[in-house]
Amino acid sequence: MTNSAGPNRRVIAIDGPAASGKSSVARALATRLGFVSVNSGAMYRAITWHVLDRGLQPHDREGIARLVETTNLATNLHEGEWRILIEGADPLPHLRTLRVNEAVSSVSSIPRVREILVAKMRACARDYDVVVEGRDIGSVVFPRTPYKYYVDASPEIRAQRRAAQGQRDQIAVRDHADSSRSDSPLTVAGGAWVIDSSSLPIEAVVDEILRRLRAQSFFGPAAKSSRITRAAR
Ligand code: C5P
Repeated sequence: MTNSAGPNRRVIAIDGPAASGKSSVARALATRLGFVSVNSGAMYRAITWHVLDRGLQPHDREGIARLVETTNLATNLHEGEWRILIEGADPLPHLRTLRVNEAVSSVSSIPRVREILVAKMRACARDYDVVVEGRDIGSVVFPRTPYKYYVDASPEIRAQRRAAQGQRDQIAVRDHADSSRSDSPLTVAGGAWVIDSSSLPIEAVVDEILRRLRAQSFFGPAAKSSRITRAAR
């Protein structure tokens, strides 16, 4: 298989629906472990911004595939987070705009777009230990990692969280599109540990994952308790 991480690299996969808290959890977990954090949703958003910026329609599947194939997609590490640059520019300021929210599910359903971004994620995991969050990380991108988590929350709580961020985002529409597409739909990967974050703060979810990792001997059988204590601080 070509989809594994580097030989001594570890991957923690965190999937879940929109506004489930998985991005914050992934970032906090990566910080506590000293791993690189990869936000794959931000990568799909970056491509979507580029597509819209170039005047393409989100449903123009062939045009988008051609554009992405000819776009210079570099990556870099910024404060422990792995980022994609589009033609040398940082797309960050544009990622959470309404028009990107509305178009991202359509753009990310295009197989060629996924192929290109999945290759980038796998390349990252050859160089770094990573916490990667998204929709298909445990099921498609890194199916062989033993460390898979699915962070969920009730639709009401998720809508409240988005509103509190001041964002207009039709998360139910995106969830439906992301779950029903044919290529790499949002799903609970086989072997994933499901955590309902509806009534849990981020740090409690991270603690839960660290407990589970310890049970999976992630920190090594001999030094289990001392290393989890250090990591969890
Ligand atoms: O995680 P976030 O809500 O920022 O993701 C934005 C969109 O990117 C999702 O609604 C989905 O369409 C797409 N996505 C994806 N696969 C991933 C991560 C995100 O298709 N692994």
